[in-house]
Amino acid sequence: MNIEKKINFNSSLLTPKSRTDAINRVSTTPQKSAIIRIENVFKIYGSGETEVKALNDVNLIIEEGEYCAIMGPSGSGKSTAMNIIGCLDRPTSGHYYLDNVDVAQVDDGALAHIRNKKLGFVFQQFHLLSQLSALENVILPMVYAGVSNSERRDRAADALRRVGLENRLNNKPTQLSGGQQQRVAIARAIVNRPVVLLADEPTGALDSRTTQEVLDIFSELNASGITVVMVTHEPEVARQTQRIVWFRDGQMVHSNMTPSDLNHLTTS
Ligand code: ADP
Ligand code: MG
Repeated sequence: MNIEKKINFNSSLLTPKSRTDAINRVSTTPQKSAIIRIENVFKIYGSGETEVKALNDVNLIIEEGEYCAIMGPSGSGKSTAMNIIGCLDRPTSGHYYLDNVDVAQVDDGALAHIRNKKLGFVFQQFHLLSQLSALENVILPMVYAGVSNSERRDRAADALRRVGLENRLNNKPTQLSGGQQQRVAIARAIVNRPVVLLADEPTGALDSRTTQEVLDIFSELNASGITVVMVTHEPEVARQTQRIVWFRDGQMVHSNMTPSDLNHLTTS
């Protein structure tokens, strides 16, 4: 099902560019609770004929406590945006403020520190270390964060309990199902108590039952105060968030769709 097409058909749901611009201008004024603030961000790959504007003047605010899905067709800039939000990459131009810190002004070492302290990452392919147990995988980010040896084990076990894996602490990834591996990855992402959890297609490799398990965990984490930002191309997944941001051709064409907008689009 091509929702992008349906959105094009149903133009009443798309704000005209002039209005989007006005909304974006208003929403880029500094706000205390804006945990993520992206202003006029461009990301350009290559040059001349091969130039690709992966992000083309994006303005986006995500407030603390939001549960937000980023959607859009393949190649529209979702992962590029996530990499910038996650401080894994820097914009070509424009500003990115994470928790009111201008990330452009921070050197690579300090950025790695911010990433480790403030952000948690979950990826489609889990990215667990295969030779380590679930517990050891979850301990790893605490080693970089300088958490004391005695505390690491307890905190890792707590995080794994939170995702329902208290009986799998010593299992290696190959001894776990895909859904369980993703839950280990979520435990690893939350163990340093991040303010923002970023997930790029976290259910892309999962069946519908384990997808729901992962989404239930995200909802619980969000209810406990963590801001969750998730890229997905699955409407059933995006529908369980609170706000949907839509990308197309490197631009944010809609900044605030609700899950019911999506319901309407996909059932019409
Ligand atoms: P999405 O996640 O929405 O599928 P991406 O953010 O991965 O899209 O890519 C956006 C655009 O930028 C695409 O045209 C892609 O080919 C291009 N792109 C992404 N990363 C690179 C890169 N490292 N070098 C060159 N082009 C890239
Ligand atoms: Mg992508």
